[in-house]
Amino acid sequence: MNVMERTNHNLRINADRLWASLLDMARIGGTAGGGSNRQALTEEDARGRLLFKQWCEASGCTVSVDKLGSMFARRDGLADLPPVLVGSHLDTQPTGGKFDGVLGVLAGLELIRTLNEAGLCTRRPIEIVNWTNEEGCRFAPAMLASAAFTGELSEQAVLDTRDAAGLRFGDELTRMGLDCSTPLGGRSIAAYVELHIEQGPILEAENLDVGFVTIGQGHRWYDILLNGFESHTGSTPMNHRRDALLGAAHLIEAVNVIGKNHAPEGVASVASMRVMPNSRNVIAGEVLLSIDVRHPVQARLDEMDRDVRAAYAACLKSAGLTGTIIDISNCPPVPFDSNVLDIIREEAGHLGLKGRDIVSGAGHDAFHLARIAPTAMIFTPCRDGISHNEAEDITQEWATNGANLLLRTVLRLANEI
Ligand SMILES: [Zn+2]
Repeated sequence: MNVMERTNHNLRINADRLWASLLDMARIGGTAGGGSNRQALTEEDARGRLLFKQWCEASGCTVSVDKLGSMFARRDGLADLPPVLVGSHLDTQPTGGKFDGVLGVLAGLELIRTLNEAGLCTRRPIEIVNWTNEEGCRFAPAMLASAAFTGELSEQAVLDTRDAAGLRFGDELTRMGLDCSTPLGGRSIAAYVELHIEQGPILEAENLDVGFVTIGQGHRWYDILLNGFESHTGSTPMNHRRDALLGAAHLIEAVNVIGKNHAPEGVASVASMRVMPNSRNVIAGEVLLSIDVRHPVQARLDEMDRDVRAAYAACLKSAGLTGTIIDISNCPPVPFDSNVLDIIREEAGHLGLKGRDIVSGAGHDAFHLARIAPTAMIFTPCRDGISHNEAEDITQEWATNGANLLLRTVLRLANEI
């Protein structure tokens, strides 16, 4: 085997093999609507993991599984140095698409298959990771396993997390029959690169091949409890009402305005609400709703926080309510590593790919990894920006471009840093 020559820019992944692997994985938990349902730690997830393990072992990798089920497939390097880590997640939403997460994992596998065929060895080891429970639809919050890998959550807290049916993460993991004997985290990672579909419409609209993700946007999540007074809709005069749902309506409108005032970078949403007693002829006595605001710049996110609190106070006043505002999550923006980004931009140039800097609107495991290792993400276009949907779609060319860029980037990182 030869160490990769830095000037060898001719190596390319096998586009048909990558595409076939993506479609093979999509069939596990395949849905009638053309998507995939492989929620974390389910039977379908177990089958997807087994296929991935078989593929990795057939490619000469050693597969280990950590205490929270995250899988690491390792291809040794010439030197016993910290590895370059690439990957994403194989779990999906209940009505998920074929490519969210899966592209990043299987492009990692494809780059190892490509290096094997070319007989090339790298200085550093390369590892492909499949993070457990990225989606968060079964066990909340999302990205539990990568958060614990980097020390942000404790192993025990994740094991004790329960799904909506009351089933415990740790018990469901045990039921999968994996050998989860590798200690969680606590080791050095030379760099982490995550390839992912954009899950937004920008790259396709601008006819670009790839996005260089410079920053993961920050977010603040709140639960708002509004308390009014239950009374008869027929006999309570309009000026005697304390209508929690009316207050909620004012607040929802105000949150939308906050998002528009901070657009295009900022977004603000109310996407869930519970009304009590939710009866057509009782004025709502209580409403619980969630607010989600996001921005890539901390100072703007702070402004949005102030705006949310002011809108909350205003809605209490306008509808004559009392209430409680609870901070659920407060994540600052995550800037990605400028050196890794420079390598990605340079290699995109060598490949003749058109790209631009882009912000990640969605959360990703890379946000956590950025705390412990030089980290960056590569985005590929996504048809009409549709994701978390069975209709999620990409072209083979988009997948190929992303995987080739990942290959070139990982070669540089594994040989040069
Ligand atoms: Zn994802």
